[in-house]
Amino acid sequence: MLAADFAHLGREVEALEEAGAEVFHLDIMDGHFVPNLSFGIPVVKAIRRSTELPLDVHLMIARPERYLEVFRDAGADLLTIHVEAVENPRPLLREIHRLGAAAGLSLNPPTPIEAVQPYLEECDLILSMSVMPGFGGQDFQAVALEKLRRLRKMAGPKKLLSVDGGVNLKTIRSCAEAGANYFITGTALLGIADYRTRFEQLLHLAKSGTNGQGQPR
Ligand code: ZN
Repeated sequence: MLAADFAHLGREVEALEEAGAEVFHLDIMDGHFVPNLSFGIPVVKAIRRSTELPLDVHLMIARPERYLEVFRDAGADLLTIHVEAVENPRPLLREIHRLGAAAGLSLNPPTPIEAVQPYLEECDLILSMSVMPGFGGQDFQAVALEKLRRLRKMAGPKKLLSVDGGVNLKTIRSCAEAGANYFITGTALLGIADYRTRFEQLLHLAKSGTNGQGQPR
């Protein structure tokens, strides 16, 4: 939603839902863990009031333990923290589950996948960043594909494996082939004239990268 038209947020949510979106992904930036600010709790609440679809809140913030409950209360169904932002993600992942949300763990492009390996059992989702977080509209980093392949092997066939950053018509199929089964698109979808057509193009490309059972080819 970082690429949404915030002057018409309700309309954007409605149009995306009609186009077929299954989840709203909300990037929270604190100007500290990442060199940018995005939006905070009032916007999450506003989106919560506009849709019944799940809200996937991606916390690109330092010391995320301070804000788990407040974002859960604001309407997050899934809370993702960064492995680089905490010393030990385990108690936070457990706290997210205690709050009744699904728990995600994210890693930046330079972070080795071994950093998340000890916590796979505690996560519902692994989010592999394919750009350095902080700004929308960056080019996809090809190094992410090899990481997705290795993460898929490590996490087994069922785990939600999402990819965030530069996912578009050119890259989405390769992401699916590499093992992603959850695709976050920003500027590849938002801001274009016809969300439904674009959504269908992206979905078709993602499906063409799998074997028909949602597994990578
Ligand atoms: Zn994100």
